[in-house]
Amino acid sequence: DALKLRLKNVIKFVPDFPKAGICFWDIMPIFRDPKLVTDLCNAIAAHLKEANPGGVTAVAGLEARGFLFGPQVAVLLGVPFIPIRKKGKLPGKVVEERYQKEYGFDVIELQEDALTATDKVVIVDDLLATGGTLRAAVNLVRKTGASVAEAFVIVQLNKEDGSPLYSEDLSDINVVHW
Ligand code: IMP
Repeated sequence: DALKLRLKNVIKFVPDFPKAGICFWDIMPIFRDPKLVTDLCNAIAAHLKEANPGGVTAVAGLEARGFLFGPQVAVLLGVPFIPIRKKGKLPGKVVEERYQKEYGFDVIELQEDALTATDKVVIVDDLLATGGTLRAAVNLVRKTGASVAEAFVIVQLNKEDGSPLYSEDLSDINVVHW
């Protein structure tokens, strides 16, 4: 539809970034256009309300680009925004999840008192590639006892045949992308 086309027109494909052979999709130009940001956040919030009639009780955003629009969506829904960050950035007691990266591993964390077992959480990020980050975020949220209502990403990378690029098993969550 019209919004998807406007997003497609500004999201930039950058070959050989951050290093040779890697292709990078730059979503930052979205945030140069306040009207586009407003329309995007309103559309995500409207979708979340419609798709989750039981109600979403929190929006969890992944550092760093999930922080660009997650808080705005959370405000529109009238629910808390919960940051998921790289290890060592969040004070207080944290829950952590370690996951495999292409080279080595990474650890993400969220604050233990941010979610409880009654929460229905939407996880947001800018982009889904192999699915490793999203898989870890889902596992992390579930460690608190909360359930994952949906995972929302602006861009999902696809293979040439149009099938999703992700190799992780994401079949136990509802992944929505634009
Ligand atoms: P995955 O774990 O392989 O699915 O990678 C997704 C994570 O890496 C997300 O947090 C993205 O923000 C980031 N990422 C991977 N590739 C790109 C890209 O081309 N553009 C922007 N972010 C990316």
